[in-house]
Amino acid sequence: MAKDLYEVLGVSKNATEDEIKKAFRRRARELHPDVNKAADAEDQFKELNEAYDVLSDPGKRAQYDRFGTVPGAAGGGSPYGGGGYVDFEDLFGGGFGMGDIFSSFFGGGGRQAQRREGRDMGVGLRVTLEEVAAGAKKEIVYDRLAPCPDCDGTGLGPDGHEVTCPECGGQGRVVTVQHTFLGDMQTATTCKTCGGTGRSVENPCPECEGQGRVPDRQRVTVEVPVGIRDSQQLRLSGFGEAGLQGAAPGDLIVTVRVQPHEFFERDGDSLHARANVSIVQATLGAEIEIDGIFEDEKVQVRIPEGCQNEQVVRVKGHGMPKFRSESRGDLFVHVNVVVPKKVTKKQRELLEQLAADMGEDVPDARTPLQKLRDAFQ
Ligand SMILES: [Zn+2]
Ligand SMILES: [Zn+2]
Repeated sequence: MAKDLYEVLGVSKNATEDEIKKAFRRRARELHPDVNKAADAEDQFKELNEAYDVLSDPGKRAQYDRFGTVPGAAGGGSPYGGGGYVDFEDLFGGGFGMGDIFSSFFGGGGRQAQRREGRDMGVGLRVTLEEVAAGAKKEIVYDRLAPCPDCDGTGLGPDGHEVTCPECGGQGRVVTVQHTFLGDMQTATTCKTCGGTGRSVENPCPECEGQGRVPDRQRVTVEVPVGIRDSQQLRLSGFGEAGLQGAAPGDLIVTVRVQPHEFFERDGDSLHARANVSIVQATLGAEIEIDGIFEDEKVQVRIPEGCQNEQVVRVKGHGMPKFRSESRGDLFVHVNVVVPKKVTKKQRELLEQLAADMGEDVPDARTPLQKLRDAFQ
């Protein structure tokens, strides 16, 4: 029996979206591997992510409330189950899983000075060739450190204010002196209290512990431009990691991943497709119709007389729509001449007549028994 998702988050069945969000953050902090050394902390963290994935999405939550289950939600193991087509990209060395978000939330290694500006984040967005042809709106679901809603990203609690860090006197570095037999050795390290910023917050916001940012699941809709190429990037300004205590946010860099198509192969603005034609169509020439890249698009292809197998027929203006242009590339139809595997008696006679007319010898296809019978008739 699967665990109750509300129990996993520790909220009641009628919890508001905001309560669910806060409960998620609280539990996530408790379960973070840096804090929680219990053997099953990681599993619980995964469970928490799955519960949040369902309960933070109104559609999935309604379905869960009604049926007690959400198809495809359990056992996926991915906190990004909602999007399905979003990949976290390894653009910046290591990608951005929840683990990374939480470690940066907790100050990461703590060795080097904490940067105040939010980092850029990278995601890959899978799109189909049809979507590239017609343009599309796609939702990206991702986790980031977002501005804290309780303090508007300032990190200040009620009556809170910024002061010079008492530990380092605003220097951001602490010098320690070690007495050794070679003499006194001075080492400067980043101030642990302020993380190198030289400032600290008095009465910090309890929700974000004075950071001004909290882990959060974001949904952003991006417009996929018509004709975009694979690996091209879209930059969503300010949608990356939020800055520390209201500093500038990073950007979200979306790398477009155009998925291979079942029938069409893309080469720049050109499209390549295969079409079957009969031996008669290939010999005499024909007009055939194939599906285009647009929904309900029909393309007329003129098969020339004497068309050979593998011959390529070009259809102008039926390729991919060009990026930032009104025109389209061309469609190249690769002809596949299909030889019939079976013919009727009538067709055989016609083909034999044709062969005789062309001066070709046709081997007698009758079986020995048939020959015998024909001879006695
Ligand atoms: Zn806050
Ligand atoms: Zn300090």
